[in-house]
Amino acid sequence: MTSKTLEDFLEAGIRELKEQGLFNEVDPLESPNGPQITLNGKEMINLSSNNYLGLATDERLKAKAIQAIETDGVGAGAVRSINGTLQLHLRLEEKLAAFKHTEAALAYQSGFNANVAAIPAVMDRNDAILSDELNHASIIDGCRLSRAKIIPYKHSDMDDLREKAKEATEQYGKVMVITDGVFSMDGDVAKLPEIVEIAEAFDLITYVDDAHGSGVLGEGAGTVKHFNLSDRIDMQMGTLSKAIGVVGGYVAGRQSLIEWLKVRSRPFLFSTSLTPGDVAATIEALDILTTSKDLQTRLWENARYFQEGLRAIGFDTGKTETPITPCIIGDEKETQQFSQRLMEEGIYAKSIVFPTVPRGTGRVRNMPIAAHTRDMLDEALAKYKTIGKELNVI
Ligand SMILES: *Cc1c(COP(=O)(O)O)cnc(C)c1O
Repeated sequence: MTSKTLEDFLEAGIRELKEQGLFNEVDPLESPNGPQITLNGKEMINLSSNNYLGLATDERLKAKAIQAIETDGVGAGAVRSINGTLQLHLRLEEKLAAFKHTEAALAYQSGFNANVAAIPAVMDRNDAILSDELNHASIIDGCRLSRAKIIPYKHSDMDDLREKAKEATEQYGKVMVITDGVFSMDGDVAKLPEIVEIAEAFDLITYVDDAHGSGVLGEGAGTVKHFNLSDRIDMQMGTLSKAIGVVGGYVAGRQSLIEWLKVRSRPFLFSTSLTPGDVAATIEALDILTTSKDLQTRLWENARYFQEGLRAIGFDTGKTETPITPCIIGDEKETQQFSQRLMEEGIYAKSIVFPTVPRGTGRVRNMPIAAHTRDMLDEALAKYKTIGKELNVI
């Protein structure tokens, strides 16, 4: 039966989600989103943020944001293409291009917006997009908006990609291959050297979404730099909201690409630009990232320590190659129960189950960050051990 009224639709939809245990309740924080958070009056160790380097609450970034608000105001006042482009935006874009080792870069209001902006700006209904089946939702939406034929390939399966690239180039106009640099649920890294090789053989446009790689891999510059492919990837997209700690997104690439995006990407043309505070804080974050490796070193030390700790207790951390740390429990109900027990014990780590990940691969997803202390990680590991035994998972 289909609902005809909004009320019926909402009621049925919410009831169904609740019955399936898929209705997500939002947890509003009573503290900043740091290594520890306060929730329902309780202080917890936070293993669920994407604040890799702890920059979201960094005093240096806060000072720059406040200063920019004083000098430039709280809002940019217009879309970029009318008169919402401040000197600050241009400075940010110069820094981003240098950070990504490209000719130019363009900032957007979020990473999500960057994907929804850039993909449809270069692809249209005569084209095809080869998309890793585990790509992020914003890539999927960007591809849909382009009206190009979307051809998913099996996750990181290069034989499948090669075969589909061959077929697609025979049938369509432009063909793009698009992938996450780091996959957000498992923490594995895209096989960029092979992807580039296939792309060069079939003349594909290459697009890498490096939301989880920037600030983390390639000495901070990201997955593309990690593989030394900066001049062989056409479009590098990133976010300013994860390792960078603020908000916003960008696309980096050759000068002509950026010129085109300025006249053809809709969120640039029709949505107000990043605020001065955001931009100033982001510039400071990029300066910190490019002048010191301290935060990255701490991030990786913490990630290795936590992952080795979990494995030593007997947990399966899957195929992660990055700080993203899945703790694979398996059964959906058991995974949710595990996460619930962790929360009761003061550890905030969310369960991720079907349909976000395949059935039977439910996991608690952990994100150790640079700002965690050894004591915090030790406490989390101790709780994992207790609850693992209690629920017969280890
Ligand atoms: C988080 C994320 C985005 C969206 O970035 P926002 O800046 O949060 O909008 C896009 N792609 C991937 C792979 C992501 O993980």
